Parts: sequence; C-alpha cells; structure tokens
Amino acid sequence: MRKEVTLALPLHAESSRFHSRAMATRLDGRQLAASIETRLQTVVAERLDRAGRPPGLAVLRVGDDPASGVYVANKEKACSRIGITNLGAHLPAETPAAEVLATIQRLNADPAVDGILLQLPLPAGLDERPLLAAIDPEKDADGLHTLNLGRLLKGEPGPRSCTPAGVMALLSAAGVDLAGKRAVVVGRSILVGQPMALMLQAADATVSVAHSRTRDLPELTRQADVLVVAAGRARMIGAEHVKPGAVVVDVGIHRLDPDPAAGPQAKARLCGDVRFEEVEPIAGSITPVPGGVGPMTVTLLLVNTVASWCQRCGLDQPLADLLP
Ligand code: NDP
Repeated sequence: MRKEVTLALPLHAESSRFHSRAMATRLDGRQLAASIETRLQTVVAERLDRAGRPPGLAVLRVGDDPASGVYVANKEKACSRIGITNLGAHLPAETPAAEVLATIQRLNADPAVDGILLQLPLPAGLDERPLLAAIDPEKDADGLHTLNLGRLLKGEPGPRSCTPAGVMALLSAAGVDLAGKRAVVVGRSILVGQPMALMLQAADATVSVAHSRTRDLPELTRQADVLVVAAGRARMIGAEHVKPGAVVVDVGIHRLDPDPAAGPQAKARLCGDVRFEEVEPIAGSITPVPGGVGPMTVTLLLVNTVASWCQRCGLDQPLADLLP
C-alpha cells in the first residue's frame, strides 16, 4: 500500500529521522500555503498593469464572535501579503438583516470587489441562507453558493469550496495519485464533506461518504487508501480506523483547554478529529493539526479571489490547476 500511494514530493519527512519505526510523512499545509502565496504574489504583480487595479476581497463580518475576529484578521493579513486590497466591512451585531443584505448588494455592484466572504457564524437572529444566496456567484470567494456547488457537481469551472480544494492541493503536491483509489470521507456537510467527495470523485477516486448514521465506521474507513476526516468530533479516529500506509487528512479543528500541568500561563491547545500520535505510525502520510488543512483553507480563498480578478479583468487564467 505504501508503494501504491507514492509520495513524489515529501513535504515534511522529519518525523522519520527521529523514530526507530517508520512514521508517516507529514503533509505540511503551512509550507505549501506559503509556496502558493508566493505564486499568487507573482500572478498579481505580473498582471497589475494590464488589470489597471489590484484584486479586491471584501470579508463581511457581523457582530463580535471572538473566534471569527481571529479568522478575519488572518484572512486580511494574507490578503495584504499578496497584494489583494481588503474592502471588507464590520457591522454591529444588532444590524438588521435588510441592512446586511444591502451591504452585500453594494459589494456585488462595486467593480473593485472580486471576492465577497460572509464570515460565519452570524449573530443569533440573522438567517445566513438568504444572505449567502445574495452574493454574486462570480464573486463567491468561499465557493459555497448554490450555483458554484452545482458547477462543481457538473465539472464546470467556478470558485471552489476552500477547505476541500485546499485538501486537493495538498494531495496533489504530495504526488498522491487518486485514480482508482478507495477514498472515504467522514462527514457530509455542505461546507466540507459533500464538496470533498465530489472533488475526489472528479479525480477518479472511488468515494464513500460516512456520517453519524454510518454503521461500523472502522470497517469502512479501513478500506480507505485516502481517508479524509471532517466529522467535527475531537480525536474520534484512531488506529482501528486506518489501513496501514493510508493517506490521512484531518480537517477537524478543536480548541482544548490548556494543560493544567503547564501552569497558569499555558495556552489553549488545538487538536483534530484524528488521534495523531496513534495514527502517525500506521499511516503513509498524514496532515497535522495545526499546520495541515487550516492554512490551505485561507490560501484557497486567495486563489478564488485572484482567479475571479483575472476573469473579471479579461486576463488569462493561470490558476486552473488549483481549482479542482
Ligand atoms: P458539521 O458539524 O457541519 O458536519 C459534521 C459531519 O460529520 C456531519 O455530516 C455528521 O453527520 C458527521 N459526523 C458527526 N459525528 C460523526 C460520527 N461519530 N461518525 C461519522 N460521522 C459523523 O462540520 P463541518 O463539516 O463544518 O466541519 C467539520 C470539522 O472541520 C469541524 O471540526 C470544523 O471545525 C472543521 N473545519 C476545519 C476547517 C479548516 O480550515 N481546517 C474548515 C471548516 C471546518 P450527520 O450529517 O449525520 O450529522
């Protein structure tokens, strides 16, 4: 199995140097995200004169959810690194739905805006569905508009959902050949699981999707050459779920309380849906949490924005390989 899923470009193999038994190759999302950002910088710089304006991304935040604050700040920093103008807005939590809708419509009509992202969750009382549906599909930086999910289903070009597209970029950079492989996706959300399954299938994997009603999950996941876990359940996947040599992608992110033994200054820790220390000795390759899928999600948001800018300014499309 280890030979079947060949890793042409080991991204982070340092673990194997420190352990006597073979350990999985770590798929380093930070490193790949940085190299894609460098590519995006070049794409933007080389086309700026022809376009006549920089790409613009509007991250729309409503209210003060603290985790969203961190995510939005990360996205804005990433934009400024590659030359995307930040055209976002931060509305107070009590903003009426009609006013949020009017802001989206203003951004839709603004020619300087190439991508719009409505940061979720919204404050209680605001229904996200009509607001997400109001985003111009050509400016849908998250790739989650109904039209763009339909385009994915039909194999038509368009912005792709950032997290699963980021997973595909990681697999591709690691040289994982998906054709004919068994892939299992744990989770069937519209945000991750469903588009992930479609993208793996489009790459000619044979895909099964598991969910909370799936019977005998370990029996199913042990068939996977490529196992993508997006269940939102901290550390639920262990050694009993993984076939030796499989590629394991952990989408889950969970904040754990600080280790009490580490004293009062200890910071909160992150973990994924996979018991990393248990699976790493079995898998052929594995994404860490943090530093695996997370950085790729932000990068694919930038890819969608720059791709939309190229299209809207009548430029060539140099990023098609990153939009599965
Ligand atoms: P959702 O809660 O929307 O979906 C979870 C899915 O997992 C559901 O389909 C659910 O099944 C399924 N599920 C839950 N429990 C089990 C179980 N015991 N066995 C099998 N399937 C199960 O989550 P999201 O898809 O939005 O996110 C998943 C995880 O990914 C979260 O931890 C989230 O924080 C993280 N995430 C990370 C991102 C990143 O950038 N790294 C980006 C987006 C999300 P059912 O449909 O039956 O309820």
